[in-house]
This record gives sequence, structure tokens and C-alpha cells, in this order.
Amino acid sequence: MASSTIAAGSATSSFIKKNEMGLSSFTPTSFRTRSCKRAFSKKVVSVMSPPQSERRPSTTGSVKTAMTMTEKIMARASEKSQVVPGENVWVNVDVLMTHDVCGPGTIGIFKKEFGENAKVWDREKIVIIPDHYIFTSDERANRNVDILRDFCAEQDIKYFYDIKDLGNFRANPDYKGVCHVALAQEGHCRPGEVLLGTDSHTCNAGAFGQFASGIGNTDAGFVMGTGKSLLKVPPTLRFILDGEMPSYLLAKDLILQIIGEITVAGATYKSMEFVGSAVESLTMEERMTLCNMVVEAGGKNGVVPADSTTYKYLEGKTSVEFNPVYSDDNARFLQQYAINVSKLEPLVAKPHSPDNRAMARECKDVKIDRVYIGSCTGGKTEDFLSAAKVFLASGKKVKVPTFLVPATQKVWMDLYAMAVPGSGGKTCSQIFEEAGCDTPASPSCGACLGGPRDTYARMNEPKASHVCVSTTNRNFPGRMGHKEGEIYLASPYTAAASALTGYVTDPRDYLQ
Ligand code: SF4
Repeated sequence: MASSTIAAGSATSSFIKKNEMGLSSFTPTSFRTRSCKRAFSKKVVSVMSPPQSERRPSTTGSVKTAMTMTEKIMARASEKSQVVPGENVWVNVDVLMTHDVCGPGTIGIFKKEFGENAKVWDREKIVIIPDHYIFTSDERANRNVDILRDFCAEQDIKYFYDIKDLGNFRANPDYKGVCHVALAQEGHCRPGEVLLGTDSHTCNAGAFGQFASGIGNTDAGFVMGTGKSLLKVPPTLRFILDGEMPSYLLAKDLILQIIGEITVAGATYKSMEFVGSAVESLTMEERMTLCNMVVEAGGKNGVVPADSTTYKYLEGKTSVEFNPVYSDDNARFLQQYAINVSKLEPLVAKPHSPDNRAMARECKDVKIDRVYIGSCTGGKTEDFLSAAKVFLASGKKVKVPTFLVPATQKVWMDLYAMAVPGSGGKTCSQIFEEAGCDTPASPSCGACLGGPRDTYARMNEPKASHVCVSTTNRNFPGRMGHKEGEIYLASPYTAAASALTGYVTDPRDYLQ
């Protein structure tokens, strides 16, 4: 891979070539983030949140200062005419999401701080989704879901996607699966709104032009009681992705390229805005993949401007009125990057960091023991359709165990109902069976984050089955189970191609 040269430029109209893969950047010299240096006082003061009030109409129609879309969303949510990066503002939260891992802790803090008999701020704005440690006999994990159920009954929470019968997920029509995909499918992701969740990949919902970010249990307990959160406005990095998307690339390749370029700390507490003709050509599920992994670069949130693709996806999913915002033409970005996607190649992130970027073809000698297709990043319907496309094109059988974990119940149903284009009417499940993959598992986070030892497809052994190509988003030591496991993050195309050879494989071997 070519070395990179970071160059500061003064002209906002030209890009300085950064490397041979088409990623360029410039740094407008006119923009400086506000200094946050302040003298610390030893005096402890208690900070009260402002009272919850009705959301005012958008203030973004007549702004005094140009703003990015993230700044506009935060300005509106904090009832200000404008905000600047570095400013702390109380935002009104539109949706608070929690799940079985962090929900019990959040509930505990809510009750401790607001009282045993306190009521949540809005029973219709809290979404509770069991999804992480579901299909396990681990008693503590099961107890977590029981705690959520009791709380939702007590508070009459409107959106609780419960599961009671662990033996057959289909006997639980309310059960969805992985929270971030379920939030989108159930219409909780809406342009211009603020969605906070007790999960770092809450940034997934930025695909809808929403401000979406992960928060801790303490903040979530506060939101539960007040509907408000104190947030610092992040500066924005803008990624302009143009050019025709090659048929062998997916959004996973784009975000691995970006994280590889800026590193896992490159967007720390920054917003990552994705624009350009290549982004506009992406489906909503692909835009979710892009935004899902901004946190792997340290990003506070990711955003894609809402457009006709967004509105079409939302049709029939929500009756809540939403009001999208867009960056002003002269908005100030901390840095801009231009990427010509037509020049990119299929990528992987090698162990043990999402920024350990390499071309898939550079890793062709890496022998693997398993392939995992699943998670909020890589377990959506289109991810499985992509994998099926590779299996179909090859007509071959997999050489290593290939585990399939649909993100949600709807994705699982799609695998058995939707015909794969060009297959003569075959479904994904038929193609997977013919290729020798494992039967699609019950929808959940599965082994994406390891989980209890009896979690399906968990990497339990230190030596055998320890190298995995995975469509998930993190490859830290121990992430999918045993700490000796080695995880290569990849697109569904690359994962499927690798399953067919038993080595990390460039999907062009089958797709061209
Ligand atoms: S699928 Fe993985 S990354 Fe996504 S929410 Fe679940 S554990 Fe987190």
C-alpha cells in the first residue's frame, strides 16, 4: 500500500492527492475549532437540565451562520438558532434505545436517581430490544431479558420487542433481533431527529440523516427520566465519494478504506458526513453499513443526507412527521476527503484492528478456519443476497464451516422467501444449502461479540477454528470468543469467496 502524505491546503476547491487508491484530502485553513480551554474550578456545582418543552419548528431555514447537517440537527434539538463545534448543548432526544446488555444497568440508574416509582419521560420514545445474549442457557443473560420485560410492563413501554420462547424464535412475533437493524426496519430511524442508544453502533442510524450516537448507561438513565442529554457539538469530517461503484465492491469496502486511511482514532469525537454520487447510489442497507462503522474510527456519529432512497425506505414504516436537514453550501468542515470509488479494490481489516487495512488479494495465502456472515454491519438481507450471489456464480461448495446469522427475524424470513436475482427463482437459503453452508441461525447478535460460551458460532477454541473471515465490525482479540482468535473483517462478497477457497480471497475470482 502506498504511503500517505497529509498535506494542509489553503484552497477548498482542489484536492491534494493522498494515495494511489484514490483518497485525497485537504484541510481548509480558515476553520479552527473553538478552544475548549477553561480554568477548572474545585467548586462542585449541580447542573440541572432545562425543562422539556415542545419541539419548536425548524430553525434551520434562516440561519445566521452556515452549519453542517449534524450542527443543524443539534441546533434544532437544543432549540437554538445556531451552534458551533465544541459547544455543549442540552438536546431533546427523539428516541432512546437500550438492549439486554445495558438495559438493566440503565434501568437501575433511572430508578436510583429518579425514584423507585418514577415514570419514564415518554413511553413512546423509548425502544427496548433484546438482541445480544438471547439463545443461551446462561442464567444471568436470561435474567437480563426478564428485567427488561418487567420494566416495560411497569412503564407500559410501547416499543418492547420481547422474546419469551427461546426454543423457537418464530413463536415470538414481537421479537426482532439486532437492535440497529430492527430500529431501521421498525421505522425508528427518521431524518433530522436525535437517536441515542446504549450501544456504540447506534451510529448506524445516521444512514437516515439522523443524529445517532451511542451513550453510556448513566447518560441513558438520565435521558430515560428527562428526555434530554448534554452533548458537545462535534466538528465534521466530510467524505465525498464519487465514481462508479465496481460490481465487486460493497459499502464495507468503502468504510474499511476510510478507517484504514484515517485510523481508529482519526475521527475521535467528530461527525463523519458521507456525500457524493457513489453514496447517493447506495441502498439504505449499504448506507447503514457505512455509518455503522464510523465508531471504529472514533466518530461521534455518521450521517448521510436523506434523499428519495431514504423516503422510499421509510414508506409505511412510520407515521411520525420528520424534517430532514442538509449541510449548507458554505458550511465549515474540519477536513474533507475525496474518494474515487471506481479505483478501490476489495479490502479486509487484518487482526486485530479495524484500521489494519489490506487488499484481499494481498492476503490470499492466509488460511482460514471459518466464515461468519452476520451482525448489524453484515447480517442484513442485502448482505446475504451478496453472499448468495458469489456462491451462485461459483457453483461450488464451501471449504470451511460457514455460519449465517441473520440480524433480525425479518432478514431470516427474507432468506427463505426472496429470490436471488439471476438464480431462476432460488432463495438465499436454497443457495446456501447447495453451497454447504450451515443452516441460517436464529436472529441475534450471535457470536459478533462472543457472548456466553454456548453462543452459536462462537470461537471457543484456542488453536482449531481460530482464523475467521467475518462480515462483522470489530476484530479485537477475544471479540468473537477466544482471545487467540484471528478475525479478518470483510464484505459479504469477500467472506463468501473466502468460504469457497478456505483462504482470504478476492471476490473478483468469482464475480468477473
Ligand atoms: S451485532 Fe455485534 S456490533 Fe452489532 S449490536 Fe450486536 S454485538 Fe454490537
